[in-house]
Amino acid sequence: MDERSPLEVEIRRRITAAGPMPVGEYMALCLGDATHGYYMTRDPLGARGDFITAPEISQMFGELIGLWMAAVWKQMDAPENIRIIELGPGRGTMMKDALRAVVQVAPAFRDALAVHLIEISPVLRAQQERTLNDLTKQVLWHAALDDVPKGPAIIVANEFFDALPVNQAVKIERGWHERQIEIDSVGNLAFTVARDPLPHFEMLLPPAAREAPEQSIFEWRADTVAMDMGRRIADEGGAALVIDYGHAKSAIGETLQAVGQHAYTDPLTAPGGIDLTAHVDFQALARAVEAMGANGFAPVEQSQFLHRLGIETRAAALKAKASSRAAAADIDSALARLIGHGRTGMGMLFKVAAFAHPSVGALPGFES
Ligand code: SAH
Repeated sequence: MDERSPLEVEIRRRITAAGPMPVGEYMALCLGDATHGYYMTRDPLGARGDFITAPEISQMFGELIGLWMAAVWKQMDAPENIRIIELGPGRGTMMKDALRAVVQVAPAFRDALAVHLIEISPVLRAQQERTLNDLTKQVLWHAALDDVPKGPAIIVANEFFDALPVNQAVKIERGWHERQIEIDSVGNLAFTVARDPLPHFEMLLPPAAREAPEQSIFEWRADTVAMDMGRRIADEGGAALVIDYGHAKSAIGETLQAVGQHAYTDPLTAPGGIDLTAHVDFQALARAVEAMGANGFAPVEQSQFLHRLGIETRAAALKAKASSRAAAADIDSALARLIGHGRTGMGMLFKVAAFAHPSVGALPGFES
């Protein structure tokens, strides 16, 4: 009996026909295959899903992002029309909390904005519609950032870039070779490396990585979205905020990981049924965005960013209104998860980077 997922059958068919498949292509199929991709078939978020994100942990997160956007809009001299673009909005929770927060404190900003959501998953699109339905009549969906009409924009992305396919290279005796997936001698999907080395690959590497020992792995992503973001900001005006887990400087090391139901699992089992992600290389991201003419602000830790935006004050205000001691304790534990530095805290692993048109000046949370 064949217990393979339909996507595994398809991946095997392609490997049999065309030879070993690069890791990036495998990841792209696992997440985004139109019929069987992980994001295309389910809502993976929340306590009962596979993973939980900052906006799903607490309303405070989206509220502070909303206030950040309103402040940036003012720094842009409050344009009459501003596009708020979110990449990969999940359930739409961050946008809902952000919009609710700005209605109260920045009604003029609320009147000026139109929301554009970039989402590939039909399941999550439907969920976003339900979440945002009564909040705004002005939400539009697009498949890619480049599809959003011209005009100044504020772009936000939480846990989006980690979901974009990552490529891997392995250093072996004769140089760096692209890592691929093959069908091994006993018939399982397994990692292998391309026969021929990647030409001039050292040139791509940060200097410290050029002396890496054999078997080292280096990961990189296509710059397409980062470049689209940079070009948009430089040409049309505005700013972008990127929040994700990753490293501030490009470095050697494998970070590709598979998660199912809040536990780590093997990335080669159950393709299409598990979430695959890899850390964001913020240095590479910034290089691509800045090459298009946008100003970059060096990444800060999520804990520091949320602290500068006043998360403790917001938590105290919510606690003062909490209906029970249990509700107040929930606010404390959400705060600890968002800014905590321990094993369960997101405060340090998560980084926040920002980019802006040169005319916007220093962005809130990034003042030195
Ligand atoms: N920002 C949300 C969801 C993070 S999960 C939150 O913080 O809760 C990643 C999101 O990106 C999902 O909405 C997923 O469907 C979307 N996504 C993944 N790859 C995408 C792509 N190539 N284009 C557009 N959206 C994508």
